[in-house]
Amino acid sequence: MINIVMFGPPGAGKGTQAKLLSDKYGFVYIATGDMFRRHIREQTELGRLAQSYIDRGDLVPDEITIDMIREVIAESPEAEGYIFDGFPRTRVQAKVLDDFLENKGDRVDAVFALEVPEEVLIRRILNRGKTSGRKDDTDVDTIKVRLEKYKTATRPLKDYYREKGVLYEIDGLRSIEDIHAEISEIIDGLRNGNGR
Ligand code: ADP
Repeated sequence: MINIVMFGPPGAGKGTQAKLLSDKYGFVYIATGDMFRRHIREQTELGRLAQSYIDRGDLVPDEITIDMIREVIAESPEAEGYIFDGFPRTRVQAKVLDDFLENKGDRVDAVFALEVPEEVLIRRILNRGKTSGRKDDTDVDTIKVRLEKYKTATRPLKDYYREKGVLYEIDGLRSIEDIHAEISEIIDGLRNGNGR
């Protein structure tokens, strides 16, 4: 089993790469943002709880996020591996994920951190907002709150994963295909037992 975390600020291309990898390797794809949006669309209790945080660019509280993740993981006990997109975003979430995988004798094998400068991120998100139907993609102030949350709550996790020896920093300004090729090569290495 191989477990992968796609890491990086909003707009870095995590979802794009995660989908390509999940198609290629058959990993179960878990995107917390997509899951929240589905709950909001279906007007579930969880969606109701999460919506106001998401609309203002804030992180949804850990308890809500973690409950949702537990539920979805329980639905795929036979998974070959997971690819997480947008999770973990806090220290608490990272610890929960580690404990959960450890209990099954597994671990986070690779964290791919996509690096993209802030002005490019804002441009990309506004551009996505033209078609995504996401309110949080159209307003510059909301986007800035999200980038700020990334810096304070999420970015420090890079050190956490670096210390564990599983962090790979990836230049996110190159083409989708080039990035995919680089990440695939690393995953192939891990699958053949040549991991760090
Ligand atoms: P992006 O990476 O472009 O910000 P996502 O779809 O991953 O988009 O996330 C959208 C929003 O969903 C976030 O701004 C946040 O409010 C909420 N969210 C997603 N994942 C998490 C998480 N792991 N913890 C807390 N909030 C989350």
